[in-house]
Amino acid sequence: MKRHNFSAGPCVLPQVVIDESAKAVIGYDNGLSLLEISHRSKAFVDIMEKARALSVELLGLEGMGYKALFLQGGASTQFLAVALNLLEKKAAYLNTGTWSDKAIKEARIFDDVFEVASSKDANYNYIPKGYDIPMNYDYFHCTSNNTIFGTQIKDFPECDIPIVCDMSSDIFSRSVDFSKFGLIYAGAQKNMGPAGTTLVIVREDILGKVSRKIPSMMDYKVQISKGSMFNTPPVFPVYSSMLNLQWLKNKGGIKSIEKENEKKARLMYSEIDLNPLFDGFAAKADRSIMNATFILKNEDLKDSFDTMCREAGINGLNGHRSVGGYRASMYNALKLESVQVLVEVMNELERKA
Ligand SMILES: *Cc1c(COP(=O)(O)O)cnc(C)c1O
Repeated sequence: MKRHNFSAGPCVLPQVVIDESAKAVIGYDNGLSLLEISHRSKAFVDIMEKARALSVELLGLEGMGYKALFLQGGASTQFLAVALNLLEKKAAYLNTGTWSDKAIKEARIFDDVFEVASSKDANYNYIPKGYDIPMNYDYFHCTSNNTIFGTQIKDFPECDIPIVCDMSSDIFSRSVDFSKFGLIYAGAQKNMGPAGTTLVIVREDILGKVSRKIPSMMDYKVQISKGSMFNTPPVFPVYSSMLNLQWLKNKGGIKSIEKENEKKARLMYSEIDLNPLFDGFAAKADRSIMNATFILKNEDLKDSFDTMCREAGINGLNGHRSVGGYRASMYNALKLESVQVLVEVMNELERKA
């Protein structure tokens, strides 16, 4: 049966990326598996350089002083690394959900972080607007897409201090002026590749301004000087991520995938809005094109809906425990056809109910 993977992460990947990754495990360089070649071999150094270059190219940041790194420890480690590298006096954070909240907690190890605004009062179902960002702070941190709550920042603030953005769940999914940001980070497993590596894109001129000593593994300057190979990098996830970035480039890049993503989201949300059995969770103006969160109004129908989804090959639709209900994650590699299948199941439930 055809599977439709709506999982929030690790995410659906293009079949060609899975096939090529599998092939490389069997044999990559002179009959050796990708898993057993040296990370210092030309074969792997080429992969790393290609992955780094593709990231910068796809975001339209070539020649603008940005460096791409493929690190370990997940986006969660970046919560801490950002503060270690950039926080000297005070930082401003926008709190739009669980992940921002965790980033704030880590930064507070160093200083009393200033929360410019929060949507916690409404269980993070909207994006706060109209807040002020103090211009004498070290940086402003935000989360572009709230994977758990299904909200997404549509307009990023104008800001004289560096903007640091956790783009884990919507990087490479929509056109944004990425040069607005001083630093972008993203765990691979949401929209870029398998779990095990984290992309960091940093404009070099924002680094080197803090007085503390930074542990080498967490020091962006060290990582840049070592070509993202201060220690043994996660060879396999970097390779699969590189293949996925290549897939995206071949498809026409972000502009082209954005059109597909918008089409999927439009179809999904129009069903949520038109079908009387369902309600959307996120405020309409702030709805994410990656993660659509919704509830079934009548809990008595839950068993039938879940069974029908299972029978249609739909996977990973359960909402996060802090929101409940359902969440359809529609990352780059999810096909329109999968959303059509889900919408058809929702329709059928309405006909039966
Ligand atoms: C999943 C997620 C994280 C955590 O990523 P890890 O790589 O598991 O540490 C952080 N931020 C956002 C927005 C996420 O969706």
